[in-house]
Amino acid sequence: MYDLIIIGAGASGLISAIVATRQGQRVLLIEKMSQAGRKLRITGKGRCNLTNTLPLKDFLKHCGSEPRFLYPSFNKFFTKDVVTFFGDLGVKTVEERGGRIFPQSGKAQDVFLAMINELEDSDCRILKDTEVTKLIVEEGKIVGVQTKGYKPQIFKSPKVILAAGGESYPLTGSQGDGVRLAKEVGHNIIPTLPSLVGLKLKHYNGERIDPSIIGFGVRNVNATITLESGKKVCQEFGELTFRENGVEGPIIITLSRQIARLLSQGERLFLNIDFKTALSEQELDEKLLSELNIRGKEDLRSVLRAFLPHELIYLAIYQTALDPRKKASFVTSQERKEILAFLKHCQFEIIGDFGFEQAIVTQGGVDLKEINQKTLESKLIKG
Ligand SMILES: Cc1cc2nc3c(=O)[nH]c(=O)nc-3n(C[C@H](O)[C@H](O)[C@H](O)COP(=O)(O)OP(=O)(O)OC[C@H]3O[C@@H](n4cnc5c(N)ncnc54)[C@H](O)[C@@H]3O)c2cc1C
Repeated sequence: MYDLIIIGAGASGLISAIVATRQGQRVLLIEKMSQAGRKLRITGKGRCNLTNTLPLKDFLKHCGSEPRFLYPSFNKFFTKDVVTFFGDLGVKTVEERGGRIFPQSGKAQDVFLAMINELEDSDCRILKDTEVTKLIVEEGKIVGVQTKGYKPQIFKSPKVILAAGGESYPLTGSQGDGVRLAKEVGHNIIPTLPSLVGLKLKHYNGERIDPSIIGFGVRNVNATITLESGKKVCQEFGELTFRENGVEGPIIITLSRQIARLLSQGERLFLNIDFKTALSEQELDEKLLSELNIRGKEDLRSVLRAFLPHELIYLAIYQTALDPRKKASFVTSQERKEILAFLKHCQFEIIGDFGFEQAIVTQGGVDLKEINQKTLESKLIKG
């Protein structure tokens, strides 16, 4: 009999286990993979972005569609507490551009090791390679869990923390078990979707356009997502990266969160990129006209070099379908408009996202109405 069973030794499960063990509770931490914290170890490109120094009001703007739900949690445990928690574990932190906090060593692995070392030196029992298949509920109260195996085992406890993760990066172990277990005991599930993920674009093939575009990042662009009617859905300014069949990067993953539901409902959505945010349409047109005049004897490709990095020139040619060898002096005003349209409103239809395999988080899951906002306990099942 344990005081507490925690399902999943990811970021949430490990922290919960440390806190409960420090309180003197007898804890059983169950992990289905052979190693704990697999996702944690690849976070932040292997560096683990622990938190951010933004004030609560601004921090919440980055916390999904129901940020108010997190108020009570953040009131109890916020940025300073995160830094202190890891400092106590021996993980020194540094603040970087944009208020982002990382371990000073620059290694997510160190964050993981600090947590697992404390647990392994404590009375917490950790069971790896063990998958929880069922929550055992009697008369509306949790009494234990059942695990998979040649002989299914039952572990008893009056309290269970479900920390089995979502569905993103399934190779790390989070494969939707948490949602399934919650559903089986009666919770309503909001359909899950990949979120913070790259977007696939129609009629875009980096390999065919020019392989140098694959992996190329463009800074200081405006990306706007619109409906078929042209109505704006959302917009972000910053950096995006072209992939073989789509786009990713900071602003794209932020936008993906806002359009995940619309995409899943089959809504036609368009990505519009403004590559020249510092210039108005009129200023850019004047500059384009002037370059075409000055470089009258050069070909169009050479003129485009004044406006775009090498990696994007073939994209411009591909999108506008103009002849790159055409002499600048022969470019018509209609063709100039097409170049202008590419630079200010390069448009692609979005045909999907890169899926759970590449999503940073999962959207949806247990209906928050059924969760106590102050304690994060289930309102349906006690314990
Ligand atoms: C590439 C990438 C980069 C990221 N970078 C950052 C970052 O820099 N900063 C940040 O804050 N967030 C980042 N995230 C998001 C962050 O990793 C997750 O929000 C976080 O890992 C969620 O923690 P969790 O414990 O809820 O779930 P997970 O970390 O997914 O852990 C769930 C655990 O439960 C186990 N499990 C599942 N089912 C069962 C079962 N039936 N029985 C037993 N065990 C089970 C799994 O094997 C897994 O170990 C990143 C995510 C990805 C994919």
